[in-house]
Amino acid sequence: MRNTDNAKYADSMPVPKQMKAWVLGDPDQLKLIDKDVPVPGRAEALVRIDAVAICATDLEVISYGTPAIFEGGAPFNKNFTPGHEYMGTIAALGEGVDEFEIGDRVTVEIHAGCGQCKRCRMGMYTSCHNYGLNYGDMNKGHRANGFTTNGGFAEYAINNINTMIKVPDDMSDAEATLVVTAGTSMYGLTELGGLVAGESVVVIGPGPIGLLAVAVAKSLGASPVVLVGTRENRNNIGLELGADVAIDARSEDVLARVKELVGPKGADYVIDCAGSESTVNQAVHMTNRGGKVCLAAFPKKPVEFDLGYLAVNNIYLYGIRGEGRSATHRAMAFMAGKRFDATKIHTHTFPMQDLPEALRYARERVDDAIKVVVSNREITASKAAAE
Ligand SMILES: [Zn+2]
Ligand SMILES: [Zn+2]
Repeated sequence: MRNTDNAKYADSMPVPKQMKAWVLGDPDQLKLIDKDVPVPGRAEALVRIDAVAICATDLEVISYGTPAIFEGGAPFNKNFTPGHEYMGTIAALGEGVDEFEIGDRVTVEIHAGCGQCKRCRMGMYTSCHNYGLNYGDMNKGHRANGFTTNGGFAEYAINNINTMIKVPDDMSDAEATLVVTAGTSMYGLTELGGLVAGESVVVIGPGPIGLLAVAVAKSLGASPVVLVGTRENRNNIGLELGADVAIDARSEDVLARVKELVGPKGADYVIDCAGSESTVNQAVHMTNRGGKVCLAAFPKKPVEFDLGYLAVNNIYLYGIRGEGRSATHRAMAFMAGKRFDATKIHTHTFPMQDLPEALRYARERVDDAIKVVVSNREITASKAAAE
């Protein structure tokens, strides 16, 4: 029996006791099971999941566990539900919540920090010192849905009110799932200083975060915005999203070309969304003296790079973790204002019950997949074209 004493429900949104949810067994093994629908606590809401975008980090969690930490350890065989880039409709409110109403369409960001550590108090809740401490006797109130708490490959999920953003009526479910990705790009630009109007920005790596970094940088007034990538179709999407020039890293001399475009002293801001040894070195060497580099991808192993060049040239290097400092709200402001069309990176949609196939499309980049979305709404074809 659910303890629903302090949660508020509405007849207009009946909530079942059980739901379908994908859970992680051994690595790479997902199964669809019946699970209890969770009950929202203080400062939380129950979200009926309408759509979820698949992220490269989901693939990592499903195969390797990290960076998920569930109930104090690896997330395998604990009935853990991954998925973190979701949107939906509020179905119940926990105690003390008057910021939202049942029936509100919302999209979510991932991290609700503990609110009591030094970094949370600074607004850096994605760098919360109590990451993963939200179980048993060690409940510090931290949540990172799809990483340390159950996520969105299900029919319902719990969210802290600080992780929800209202979705305008004219924004599609699929587009709303992309707001948190744009929020990550926005966070990178925020950490670099935010005031990039009239300054040159180079983005290396046209994955989802890189492509939306192009769009956000352009919307913030950066000029020129240059994209560096190896795949022609993705570079072309970058041009549609606002890049002034896209450089083909396979056939062009990247450093020479960047300096031709932004001036011989180099770029003011560089965002590396590829995270390889060669791109980290390119990023450092294409940056203006006194300029700033943001590392938005996580290199998988130690990287050798020209630290001396960085020091001698007073170049600042920033790491970013997730979508901090409410950047997702700023990204939503741009997307709600139609400053760029993030749906250009949405390539495929599958029904939730076809999640394994959707994951395969994302992992193997079948049919040039970029962002694959799974939906709990009625979808007739298993591979509906992106609208
Ligand atoms: Zn993600
Ligand atoms: Zn914290």
